[in-house]
Amino acid sequence: MANEENMGASVPEMVGPETLERLQAVVREHRVCWEVWPEQLAGVGRGPLQVGFDLVLNGAHAHDKDRPSPGCERCEVIFEHLREIAEWIVPKVERPSRYDIQIFDHAVHYAPERGNRPDVALTIKILHRSEIDAPVDECEVRCLNEMKTKLAQIGAQYRQWVDSPTS
Ligand SMILES: [Zn+2]
Repeated sequence: MANEENMGASVPEMVGPETLERLQAVVREHRVCWEVWPEQLAGVGRGPLQVGFDLVLNGAHAHDKDRPSPGCERCEVIFEHLREIAEWIVPKVERPSRYDIQIFDHAVHYAPERGNRPDVALTIKILHRSEIDAPVDECEVRCLNEMKTKLAQIGAQYRQWVDSPTS
């Protein structure tokens, strides 16, 4: 591939084997898991309304015995890797849905389903482009499913990391 590390120039959907291999390695290194939460709006005079999805990527960081400090440089690196994954999985064509890759919250997250390992998290919000308070629609579901497919391609696992016997 001729277009490596070309700052700012994103070439849509040119997935060379290098890209896949690199992202697969990143996923293995940080044992990347993903989960989905509803993106909700507080309704006025009604219950909360689901308007989209929050797709959360979690990358683990072993901090020896210590708890990570909030300014941990290693966590920053993991977040950058998660962002590479996020940028790769979001659909590149313009649709009624849009995708917001959230900035680093500088927090360490612990979830019992991942054995309370220290996680760096990145959230991708899947939202409507125009009618922001509309309920979840087909386009959002389709976009989410495409992203899940790409996550599977690079070996990211749903909620919980299980070492595969072959690796
Ligand atoms: Zn860290």
